[in-house]
Amino acid sequence: MKQELHNHIYLCRHAVGTPLELARRGQKLGLEVIGISDHAALPDNRWPDIRMSYSELDLYDQLIEDAKKAVPAIRILKGFECEGLPEYFTYYKEELLEKRGFNYLIGSGHYIWLKNQWQSSFSCLNQPQALELYTEQLVGMIESGLFAFIAHPDLFGLCFESWNLRLETAAKAIAQASKAKGVPLEINGNGYWRNPVGGRAPFPWASFWEVVAQVGAPVVINSDAHSPDQLGQNKKQSLALAQNLGLTLWGVQELGLGKSLQAG
Ligand SMILES: [Zn+2]
Ligand SMILES: [Zn+2]
Repeated sequence: MKQELHNHIYLCRHAVGTPLELARRGQKLGLEVIGISDHAALPDNRWPDIRMSYSELDLYDQLIEDAKKAVPAIRILKGFECEGLPEYFTYYKEELLEKRGFNYLIGSGHYIWLKNQWQSSFSCLNQPQALELYTEQLVGMIESGLFAFIAHPDLFGLCFESWNLRLETAAKAIAQASKAKGVPLEINGNGYWRNPVGGRAPFPWASFWEVVAQVGAPVVINSDAHSPDQLGQNKKQSLALAQNLGLTLWGVQELGLGKSLQAG
């Protein structure tokens, strides 16, 4: 099954393209399933710089419906990439999954509550306690049962030059929760486009995925495209990593997003 389930559109204000353009590009690449998973609108419009506003939810629905009609040859799934704050879990479940019929949600740990303020996981995870709070947030997302998979769990590769025992402990906790709950971890190709840290891509970080392989947790591969031309790029590198380590790759069937959903 050829799929890409983590993709953004212009509504998040730091990506370009529409669901229709992504679908056309996906069709060209021979994908069977494409997921649109922009940064989730939040009911209180928190962190508005990198996401659509709550009032744009209807527009998002409409853009995806338009793409489905225009490109029927490819299955288009409606998703969101969600922040892992428990205070939003009821909104994710009742409004997004139940009321609006989202096909799936992705869980992400972009922010943690540190020193009395929200801080970006992209830059703060080397501070005392930060890694442990991040790990706790990811485990909470996995255990909530709301998310189809967890995006870039090895995001902390941005903040650490080399692997250490603390990272090993964090990786183990995340991988064990993933394995126990059957919620896969995502090898996120977006990291290959970022500035190197310690002579490697910040993520995917092979040392993290070695732990995932040891634990035997399931894995998905996505490009996290922020423009239609990024779709599917770096898939080869991610696949090579997964194959070298003997990781267990999941597709839409294993994720519970198989054909039966097509009617819905
Ligand atoms: Zn983004
Ligand atoms: Zn993303």
